[in-house]
Amino acid sequence: SIVVTGATGKLGLLVVEGLLRKVPADEVAAVVRDAAKAAPLAARGVELRIADYDTPDTFSEAFNDGDVVLLVSSPDAGRRVPQHRAVIDAAKEAGVARLVYTGVLGGPEANFALAEDHKGTEQAILDSGLPWTFLRNGWYSENYTEQIPTQLEHGVVGSAGDGKIGSAAREDYAEAAVAVLTEPGHENRSYELSGDQAWTLPEYAEELSRQSGTEVSYTDVPPDTLKGILTGAGVPEAFADILVDVDTSAIAQGLLEGGSGDLARLIGRPTTPIARSISAALER
Ligand code: NDP
Repeated sequence: SIVVTGATGKLGLLVVEGLLRKVPADEVAAVVRDAAKAAPLAARGVELRIADYDTPDTFSEAFNDGDVVLLVSSPDAGRRVPQHRAVIDAAKEAGVARLVYTGVLGGPEANFALAEDHKGTEQAILDSGLPWTFLRNGWYSENYTEQIPTQLEHGVVGSAGDGKIGSAAREDYAEAAVAVLTEPGHENRSYELSGDQAWTLPEYAEELSRQSGTEVSYTDVPPDTLKGILTGAGVPEAFADILVDVDTSAIAQGLLEGGSGDLARLIGRPTTPIARSISAALER
């Protein structure tokens, strides 16, 4: 089977839907922690395997010999390496054919806080000796477009200056995952995935203004101010630190600009431009 973890999440669900367009449902399995949330997948013929990253034993039956497994990284930044190790150990034990992992742009070269878990996970996969594919995802455009209601009210705020963001739509990254899961030739290869055209936060604010008809400004603020805004909006302090670091240590330094062209090559079409992600969000 082709097995997808995090299959009830936004990216995982798009991957499963993409797989169902390409292979029979009885060849697709979903690892989920909440069977009720996954009921619509089961109704479409996808086999559910219930497991929780925080309880390694629950993975003992999650994989079978010969499965191709997509490990969608956990959202719990800072504690993902042990969570992911539960998956890697079980995959090794079962003898899966290949482990595909969604990491971050730059791989071992990515020197910002959010990348630490991804680097640790890639290393653990290499150490396992399993065949692998690394999908080093750049930023999702939705990280910004999901904030449009707030941005229309308060403007766009960040500490990234004129750093370029080579984002793409979640759907683009999902299609790339479907490609490497279903096609031959991706074993022991890594892909640096990013949008074809990188943009800056001032350019984003300008495009949002143009499309919405509301004047949206971009304000560059010092890191401490950004942290205060994030924690004031309810982001836990540890994660606020990580997000501020993304702006100052990654985006402002050009580390999320991308430009390899790997994503467009894998999906066989141009990536979704930020302007289209903005218009899709405004139409919702
Ligand atoms: P979601 O939060 O929508 O999905 C995360 C998935 O992980 C969910 O299915 C969730 O299950 C599952 N999950 C969380 N904790 C556990 C656990 N303890 N055991 C088993 N499953 C668990 O995120 P996205 O789909 O949007 O993104 C996928 C991943 O990509 C994120 O988890 C994060 O690592 C990374 N990411 C990347 C970004 C980028 O810009 N490149 C931006 C944001 C995240 P449930 O459905 O039950 O909650």
